Amino acid sequence: MSLISPYALNSHRQYKGNLHTHTTNSDGVMTPQQVVDLYAALGYHFLMLSDHDHVTDIHALNHRGMALIPGYEITAGGGHLLYVGGREVLPHNGDRQSVIHAVNDRGGFIIVNHPNWEEDYSHWPQAELNRLQGFHGLEIYNGVSERAEGAALATDRWDMLLSKGRQVWGFGNDDTHETYDSCITWNMVFAEEFSMESLIAALRTGNFYVSTGVHIDAIHVEGNLIRIVSRDTQCFRVIRDHGMILAALDGPEMCYEVPDVAPLSYLRVECYGRGADMAWTQPFRIA
Ligand SMILES: [Zn+2]
Ligand SMILES: [Zn+2]
Repeated sequence: MSLISPYALNSHRQYKGNLHTHTTNSDGVMTPQQVVDLYAALGYHFLMLSDHDHVTDIHALNHRGMALIPGYEITAGGGHLLYVGGREVLPHNGDRQSVIHAVNDRGGFIIVNHPNWEEDYSHWPQAELNRLQGFHGLEIYNGVSERAEGAALATDRWDMLLSKGRQVWGFGNDDTHETYDSCITWNMVFAEEFSMESLIAALRTGNFYVSTGVHIDAIHVEGNLIRIVSRDTQCFRVIRDHGMILAALDGPEMCYEVPDVAPLSYLRVECYGRGADMAWTQPFRIA
């Protein structure tokens, strides 16, 4: 048995980013520059201003040393989607499958937003996620949902997709509307260098992890061995198909030999730190 890891460059530097923020160009309380200033002050390296059905112009802004990724949140006429790399608003179209195809054709990619938002946790019914093809990522943690109906965490939805063999990366985004929605969850990208190209390449290939406070120092995979070093982690959980827990191991370092059990089509690791702090690796497929 051999694991396929997206963490090819894990000894490289890590860059912190959020791909989902609102500004006064939709229903956020901060101007675009105030949002950029806030995230720069919090030590972020990249940010996407993602207003509802509106591409906020990033060229006029002082980037404060961050990489600003163009894009917006596709909102009207259906479930919400992030269009990463979007430079123009697509025609409003309730048929989300054609929207996803249009974004892929234009060289961007789609992240499905806050699937467990709303009173019945059904902003995105699972049957709809099963039907839609071609989306790149899923918000496994949506920060603003901590103060909205439903759940911020959506690893349940992710495991259901991964168990069907779907290739979907997990993302953690604040979905900032108020100042206090910032720095709840983020994406930590392993990249060779700090450039828009290398950040986007890492986001495309899954060379990042999601955090709400736990830092992962290194992820090494060789054959059927996973080694993770995380100074913040008190307990690791290895999750397999259908969300089953394969193992629970003490931190801060895990060296785990994956046993030959069935079913086994992917593994992913959850890192539990102090209080509610966590980190989530991307899935490792079984070759
Ligand atoms: Zn939304
Ligand atoms: Zn939003």
